[in-house]
Amino acid sequence: MPVRQFLDYTSYTYTYIIYDATSRKACIIDPVAEQMEQYLTFLDEVSITLDYAIDTHIHADHITALGALRQTTDCKTLVGKPDQVSCATGGLHDDEIIQIGRLQLKAIYTPGHTDDSYCLLLDEGGQGIVFTGDTLLIRGCGRTDFQNGDPRQLYDSLHQKLLTLPGETLVYPGHDYKGWTSSTIAEERSHNPRLNLKGKASFVNHMNNLNLPDPNYMDVSVPANLECGKKKEQR
Ligand code: FE
Repeated sequence: MPVRQFLDYTSYTYTYIIYDATSRKACIIDPVAEQMEQYLTFLDEVSITLDYAIDTHIHADHITALGALRQTTDCKTLVGKPDQVSCATGGLHDDEIIQIGRLQLKAIYTPGHTDDSYCLLLDEGGQGIVFTGDTLLIRGCGRTDFQNGDPRQLYDSLHQKLLTLPGETLVYPGHDYKGWTSSTIAEERSHNPRLNLKGKASFVNHMNNLNLPDPNYMDVSVPANLECGKKKEQR
């Protein structure tokens, strides 16, 4: 399978490199600035070139490598709201296909965790693989209490978009805090407690009462990520 998973062990972020073995073209999803060297080493070792770097949303807990990768590899950078992100090459659009060699990655607009959240769906020889960012996590989902998050929208994104995918679709999340690396839509349908709350009102009530602390690096990360990873002193 043309997917590699990388972990940033500071923020528990998963980054994915998807590549087409024939054309040697690749795409990276949710790269973390501190892990740049790993990505470049891998690209070099397996002789693939980066066509796209994509953030599933503006992250609040780590600094993106989008800007640095664009500078280093000349890849295109895609985000949900390109008008808000200074160095984005372009935007993601619901249902639009991103072509990576012979691979097709479909963008699915899934607001709720933030208002710029997208999931990305790959069909690899009939096997669906969905990269869910923070919209759907393994046995959980992203919080909705900042960055224009909205639990009503998240409920609709989960139930009307992600859960309508075939059960065998593999789920690759944007984070995991317990070390779980992947899941399936069927597993999440059955065992994800947040998908089994009775109805939209109880989901909204649950999400509105999580009382979580802000992410550690939120004050630094969000402004830096709007500049594709440049910290204040570097701008
Ligand atoms: Fe997030």
